[in-house]
Amino acid sequence: GVLGKPVAELHIRWPRISMELMRDELVRALVGLGVLIAAAAITVVVLVDRLVVRRLRRLSAELSEAMSRADWAGTITIGRRDEIGALADSSARLLVAVRQQTGALRDLTLTDTLTGLANRRAFDDRLAAALRSQGETAAELSLLMIDIDHFKRYNDRYGHPAGDVALREVARCLRDRVHGATDLCARLGGEEFAVLMDATGPQGAVTLARSIHAAVLARSLTHEGNPPLGVMSISGGIACALPGDTPETLYARADAALYEAKASERNRVI
Ligand code: GH3
Ligand code: MG
Ligand code: MG
Repeated sequence: GVLGKPVAELHIRWPRISMELMRDELVRALVGLGVLIAAAAITVVVLVDRLVVRRLRRLSAELSEAMSRADWAGTITIGRRDEIGALADSSARLLVAVRQQTGALRDLTLTDTLTGLANRRAFDDRLAAALRSQGETAAELSLLMIDIDHFKRYNDRYGHPAGDVALREVARCLRDRVHGATDLCARLGGEEFAVLMDATGPQGAVTLARSIHAAVLARSLTHEGNPPLGVMSISGGIACALPGDTPETLYARADAALYEAKASERNRVI
């Protein structure tokens, strides 16, 4: 145009046939593009499912399985060096840490800190379980209660720290003589100890009790408040389980025997 006014007109003629050809081409191109996009989308979905979703689901299932078990025992099997692999690796290490700490805490709640023997809680659990299974098998089972003689005087004379050392010495006498697989020794509290003897009747129980008693005497821990010996001694009471016994009834009989030992001048096992 010149000064905004048209000076010529251009006319273009398209034959109808070429327009239709172009439209067909366009449609074909669009359909091809659609198919390509759909194939790409399916590939992406399959890859995401294989590489991400399934592995996250498995990780979640393996973690749930480990959590549902009281001991946190379980393994994470997801591999590969990618972000999910790193997450799985951290989860596996977390499981190991939780398992170790749970075990350590359990040990702590079942162990007497002064002597390292089982504590009353552990002993009571084991005694109850042993009596239950004894009921089913009619096997023999014995309980030995031990109490240090005149221990208050020992503390008064030699001091509480020396008393603690003596408690550890007595604990060692028990530990050295008890068969770990079938028997359990514990510090029930204060200067009182107990031994549970599985598959052991009166004879075996007396033999073990005498050996513990002799071992404590053999330590010859000076104890001037314990005449006429002048060394540390223990008294003990044994009870052997009868059908129908509960922890309470068995404890009561062992306690009664221990009381009798105390009443008859101590330093003996009844
Ligand atoms: P008996 O021969 O009649 O058993 O007399 P005993 O003096 O041994 O018994 P008693 O029950 O009168 O005293 C127990 C003492 O045990 C009292 C307490 O000072 C001491 N004792 C309890 N627990 C501990 C402890 O953890 N460490 C120390 N060192 N002493 C303890
Ligand atoms: Mg006592
Ligand atoms: Mg005592």
